[in-house]
Amino acid sequence: MPKYRQRWTEQPLATSHFPAAATTLPCQSCGGTTLESFYELSNVPAHSCLLLPTRQEALAFPRGDIELVFCHDCGFIGNTRFDIGLNQYSAAYEETQAFSPRFLKFLDEICRDQIQKFGLAPGVTALEIGCGKGEFLTRLCELSGCNGIGIDPGYRPERNQSSAADRMTFIRDLYGPRYAHLQAEYVSCRHTLEHIAPVQEFMRLVRETIGNRHHVNVFFELPDMERVLETGVFWDIYYEHCTYFTRGSLARLFRAEGFDVTNLYKAYDDQYLMIEAKPADGMTEARLPQENDLATTAALVRKFTEEVDRRLAELAEAALRWRRSGQKVAIWGSGSKCVSLMSSIDFGDTLRAIVDINPHKHGKFLAGSGWEILGPDALTEVRPDAVIIMNSIYTEEIRHELATRGLEPELLPL
Ligand SMILES: [Zn+2]
Repeated sequence: MPKYRQRWTEQPLATSHFPAAATTLPCQSCGGTTLESFYELSNVPAHSCLLLPTRQEALAFPRGDIELVFCHDCGFIGNTRFDIGLNQYSAAYEETQAFSPRFLKFLDEICRDQIQKFGLAPGVTALEIGCGKGEFLTRLCELSGCNGIGIDPGYRPERNQSSAADRMTFIRDLYGPRYAHLQAEYVSCRHTLEHIAPVQEFMRLVRETIGNRHHVNVFFELPDMERVLETGVFWDIYYEHCTYFTRGSLARLFRAEGFDVTNLYKAYDDQYLMIEAKPADGMTEARLPQENDLATTAALVRKFTEEVDRRLAELAEAALRWRRSGQKVAIWGSGSKCVSLMSSIDFGDTLRAIVDINPHKHGKFLAGSGWEILGPDALTEVRPDAVIIMNSIYTEEIRHELATRGLEPELLPL
């Protein structure tokens, strides 16, 4: 049998009982105390996107524990064992997906949509909190002619060759009260909130920054937890992500902190959650039907471990089949999902390579497992019989990349 470790069964949790309150901490999103612990993973790599220069450093990388708790008051889910001290965001952080044509197409689509909805144009300033390598803000400025301010400790100026560079300012730092003076007509925050533990405090700061400028438009994008719960895709849960939202819990946080939620929807094959809001005076009332998901989320939380077990069994069966027939396997995609998968399943000697299209990752090592990340060209030598695709949305693009190298392996999109 392939070794696969169901770490969460080592200490069974009372998922069927309520309340199982294993924690005394209040909810980070609403301050409520009706928390239910429902999923646990121990000793997982504390970072999944930091590039490590040697295998030794990758193997010795700091580890932490995950215990997900569900708040019955607001639907928020957070890792109650999260220790911010284990996380270090720096220029060595490599999260970008911008080497994928599929991703760039999506980025263009959301930029055009936001520009049209919120009238971004020359003279208007867009602020992006947690801008990463600046792809979104740059594209927004290029397409609309607006000015941009981006804040992120992982920003790399040498990689930005945009023609809109003279209209953009980048601050290589974490967002905090010291940036409350930055004024913009449009505030965006993409794939950042899930890395922040004190989410209530964070949203309060964003609201304070906007002050009484009621015309400001706010747009946040983050992973959707409803899909993760529904489908048991456990590789989407990792240490870096200390908070998890569904449409309802996100809207409740925004409303409680003085925003009116104007639009709430899913995108990118329903993997991402998008929220659009306007500042209000004090708390606002729910008015979108999709916010009403508290009971549904509670039900999904109750059957989550079952779904995870089903996913694990499927993967273990595939791994066993490959091993028995002496087949070679590769993983395509070395981001957080891969680090998370590698922490839960041991593919043994069937696994021959982990590849990624981001050239900045090649020759670097994966935290935890210590695997070296290679470029797709390495597969022409490995000639894998099967390729596990870490995000199914890239299946066609990867099939094409493989075909151009004369490869037609079995594909297992996750
Ligand atoms: Zn709550």
